[in-house]
Amino acid sequence: MFDETVDCPYCGHEHDMSEGTVDLPSDNKFDKNCDICGEEFEVEVEFHPSYGASKIIYDTCDCCSETVRDFYRKGFVLPFPENLNGEVFCKPCFYKAYKED
Ligand SMILES: [Zn+2]
Ligand SMILES: [Zn+2]
Repeated sequence: MFDETVDCPYCGHEHDMSEGTVDLPSDNKFDKNCDICGEEFEVEVEFHPSYGASKIIYDTCDCCSETVRDFYRKGFVLPFPENLNGEVFCKPCFYKAYKED
């Protein structure tokens, strides 16, 4: 993935690069004419690694009061054992109740 817009170095106009980069030359550079000021400038395509990130969420088990990273929340897990009293449960408590249910 790369930033799909490039600013004209002459007038600052933002050019959408999401199309037209299919036939990239081997050095990832190509010349482009600004459609606003008409100047020609060189575009260098940079490739950056992309990472996905998500928050780590901790919650407290309503059964054993442990703070756990992997938990089951009522309404998000089906079927939810009926004998569990509360909203959030750690895996051991969940599976224990699941078996007993
Ligand atoms: Zn320009
Ligand atoms: Zn628990």
